[in-house]
Amino acid sequence: MPLQITLPNQSDSTTPGRVVGIDLGTTNSLVAYVDQGVPKVIAGADGGIVPSVVTLDDNGNVVAVGVKAKKHALVDAAHTVYSVKRLMGKSFQDVKKESGLLAYRLAQADEGLVRVQIGKKLFTPIELSAFVLKELKKRAEDFFGETVTKAVITVPAYFNDAQRHATKDAGRLAGLEVLRIVNEPTAASLAYGLDKSKQGIIAVYDLGGGTFDISILKLSNGVFEVLSTNGDTYLGGDDIDRRLMELFITQIKHMEPAFEPNGEQLQQIRNVAESAKIELSTKPSVMIALDIPQANVAYRRNLTRTELETITRSIVERTRIPCEMAIKDALIDVDEIDEVVLVGGSTRMPAVRSLVQQIFKRKPHDELNPDETVALGAAIQANVLAGETKDVLLLDVTPLSLGIETIGGMMSTIIPRNTTLPTKATETYTTFVDNQTGVEINVYQGERDFVRDNRKLAEFTLKGIPPLPAGAAKFEVSFLIDADGILHVSAKEVHTGIAHEVEVKPSYGLTEEEIERMLRESVVYASQDIGERRLAEAKTEGQRILAATEKVLGQLRRGEIVITPQRLQSLNVAAVIDALYALRRVVQSEDAEAINNQVTALEQATEPLAQEIMNASVSEVLEGKNVAEIST
Ligand code: ADP
Ligand code: MG
Repeated sequence: MPLQITLPNQSDSTTPGRVVGIDLGTTNSLVAYVDQGVPKVIAGADGGIVPSVVTLDDNGNVVAVGVKAKKHALVDAAHTVYSVKRLMGKSFQDVKKESGLLAYRLAQADEGLVRVQIGKKLFTPIELSAFVLKELKKRAEDFFGETVTKAVITVPAYFNDAQRHATKDAGRLAGLEVLRIVNEPTAASLAYGLDKSKQGIIAVYDLGGGTFDISILKLSNGVFEVLSTNGDTYLGGDDIDRRLMELFITQIKHMEPAFEPNGEQLQQIRNVAESAKIELSTKPSVMIALDIPQANVAYRRNLTRTELETITRSIVERTRIPCEMAIKDALIDVDEIDEVVLVGGSTRMPAVRSLVQQIFKRKPHDELNPDETVALGAAIQANVLAGETKDVLLLDVTPLSLGIETIGGMMSTIIPRNTTLPTKATETYTTFVDNQTGVEINVYQGERDFVRDNRKLAEFTLKGIPPLPAGAAKFEVSFLIDADGILHVSAKEVHTGIAHEVEVKPSYGLTEEEIERMLRESVVYASQDIGERRLAEAKTEGQRILAATEKVLGQLRRGEIVITPQRLQSLNVAAVIDALYALRRVVQSEDAEAINNQVTALEQATEPLAQEIMNASVSEVLEGKNVAEIST
């Protein structure tokens, strides 16, 4: 279905003010803006990347988001939610099989929707994503010193209608008007400025934490057209981490056969695995040190990049077939590809780079940080919508076919997959039985012949058709997909002109009422939330430092950390213990300020001890012995 559609030039409309670009990733999220023509990531105190991780308490209060939440998973895995993007726009049935892979609990809501259960509270994936978006919004607001209410958010090209809707809803819930949903590969191409009057075909290879996407785009006269998309929703850096974890655990079990890691310990092993992997992207070998004193584990080993590449080759290789399929779908030959763009943190691995080069027969673009590329492109698109940049048009494609159910439960495709957006298509149908006065229209998305294998998006009835013999009444069904990839369906009886129209409300998004209610609640409870949040944060921080201090004192007592008695005296352990008890007394209270004060006091008291342990560990490392104690 060749289409000649030009998007209206957004820059002609009234200027909507500041708009930020957001990469809402499975693993990591970022917010970016354009500073005098140059896109930049907005960094917080802990860097530009906000891990898409949220920690909640049993009452449903947000305790931490991002880097802090990721750390929190070390002490409390069950209250820490990650990879929510996988659940967006999905039913419980859709994701049941992955519940085994997630450390938190999934539950089913009445309507078959998936919920995340934390303590007694149930959360929608939309709400959880909104927590991450709020953090990004706050980051941008701190940076600009003013409120930010408009954003462009990116999604994977394969996201279906329900998932795009869910992403928009999450934005709304976070207090952001989502001006545009942009496909991630399209954003990445923008970030590389490939729109600048160049002609050609671009492949965007995106290997992130949990997902792999490959997209083939065509550029002409500054217009991006996505020719095809492919990928694997269960392939990424997490798989590499998991393989390393398996290796470590197997080897630990050789020494400690009874070792069965719990949630927190798994998280600790995962962190060690991920750090080792990251280091091996730039170093030929790395020292692994994993200490779990409770389980009598003190694991040490040297790991080389070659070993890592050997045990993970099959994972990296799995990206090859989707690439080849995408090239086929785009109806091109690999030699016709002019540019290859690397996106996603995992493309920092040398093994991935060389595979990409091998598949596409050319050196990929890697001048930008691969984990920032999408956010930078989103910022450029945001700038366009803010009326700041002219002459950029974005055309995306529909990743899955859309159609309706016809007789026998067959799928009748109206818009085939990989059709350029926005698009409109109409098909004519007839009635099946005599005197039929109503037609039920069931809208599906998917590639299979029978609708039962595809995904139902909506249903509605066209009523008031005049009674006629079967086949005599004709009705037209039109599908329109707008620039956000959102579908509008209409049906019209040809003779009478009777018509019915719906914007497809995906079955697994939130209803308008639900969103309204949540928005209302978020305003009503806002001030209360701030107080609760401050208290929750103080408590978490208090618990964290208590646990860390108790751990060190325990190690000192058991002689696991060796400090000469003379030095020990000068470190004033008695003062540490006093401060420890003082904090213990207030940590369960409702007084955030008192808790914070005692936290500070304990931090001060432990300062000399921490310094000493650090020095001791460093010298032990130099002797090749101990590294893991440094972290606390
Ligand atoms: P997503 O798009 O899935 O949110 P990212 O693009 O941020 O995620 O990629 C995150 C993944 O990249 C993680 O698995 C992380 O371990 C991996 N990663 C980040 N930096 C490196 C590196 N230097 N070497 C190898 N992997 C890396
Ligand atoms: Mg990404």
